[in-house]
Amino acid sequence: MRVIVVGAGLCGLSAAKTLIQAGHQVTVFDKGRSPGGRMATRRIGPARLDHGAQFFTIRSDPFAALIQPHIDQGLVYEWCRGFSGGGDGFPRYAVHGGMNALAKALAGPLDVRCNSLVFAIRPAAAAAGSGASWDVALDDGTSMAADGLVVTCPLPQANSLLVTAGTELPPDLISTEYDRTITLLVTLDRPSAVGEPGGLQNPAEALSFVSDNQRKGISDLPALTVHADAEWSQAHWDDDPAATIRALVDLADDYVGEAAVLEAQIKKWRFATPRTIWPKRSWVAPDGAGLLVLAGDAFAGPRVEGAVMSGLAAAAAFGA
Ligand SMILES: Cc1cc2nc3c(=O)[nH]c(=O)nc-3n(C[C@H](O)[C@H](O)[C@H](O)COP(=O)(O)OP(=O)(O)OC[C@H]3O[C@@H](n4cnc5c(N)ncnc54)[C@H](O)[C@@H]3O)c2cc1C
Repeated sequence: MRVIVVGAGLCGLSAAKTLIQAGHQVTVFDKGRSPGGRMATRRIGPARLDHGAQFFTIRSDPFAALIQPHIDQGLVYEWCRGFSGGGDGFPRYAVHGGMNALAKALAGPLDVRCNSLVFAIRPAAAAAGSGASWDVALDDGTSMAADGLVVTCPLPQANSLLVTAGTELPPDLISTEYDRTITLLVTLDRPSAVGEPGGLQNPAEALSFVSDNQRKGISDLPALTVHADAEWSQAHWDDDPAATIRALVDLADDYVGEAAVLEAQIKKWRFATPRTIWPKRSWVAPDGAGLLVLAGDAFAGPRVEGAVMSGLAAAAAFGA
């Protein structure tokens, strides 16, 4: 089958990889400049900072099987075994070069087309003569025909591009809400006050995670990532960016320590974390023009592993 995957996050990439292994012809579209979605890494001068997911855990065999080659190649490494009080003994993995490097490695052998926003999915009657089930319209005015679709973007975005698909989505699915996250990224003139292992979970009111990217092992220069929690992020979403930076630098003062902030930026994640999780690992449209599967971290858990498990479930709907 010709399958189009919308979204080159970890869900879409793992679905695409599995579909290709099963002999399908797969094209992945992503609106971003590079693959990865919320597995995101940014450079500020010579510093490198993860600004979405900070680490992942491996709890299931299929996810372990997907990651193991990247551990063997030295790309994925064990960062630590927990963030406070000596940890809980359970490995937390990170990626040399930043979390986004894993997405790039997964995307490498695939046909992934970035800077390609899918804005409408229609039954293929409109794409007369192709013999396909679906017509996928892109923002550059082109379209591509497909026999099957895997749509992995956050559900509000999926819903809007499926309005033209002639498929009814379950109301509970459409109404899935996402918490927001505002992330502060700062480079420092000397090491931060964050001790080993370089990560702090829920360290203070309003903060959900503080990560020292140098101590974590991905940045040559001292650089902190500071995630505000959902409540703070919602309350400050529309604030002036400069005021948001000042407020977050204040909140992170204990972790910046004696260092001076060299540069500060923010990243706003509108669809950071699904508030509810669909009871199945993917959703297969019962009545579409062809096979249409929705997947993503709203289906199998709001984490990197959940996104991958949902991607594998989506591929399984195609017999892969
Ligand atoms: C701030 C933050 C911190 C996190 N920390 C952790 C952590 O430490 N550990 C952990 O396990 N998880 C963490 N997570 C969660 C984890 O990042 C996600 O669960 C996972 O990456 C989701 O993958 P996904 O493929 O489902 O979605 P995404 O990564 O969001 O991928 C969806 C993709 O769809 C693309 N897209 C959207 N609309 C369109 C369109 N119309 N056309 C084309 N492309 C489109 C987007 O550009 C995106 O690349 C964190 C998330 C955030 C935001």
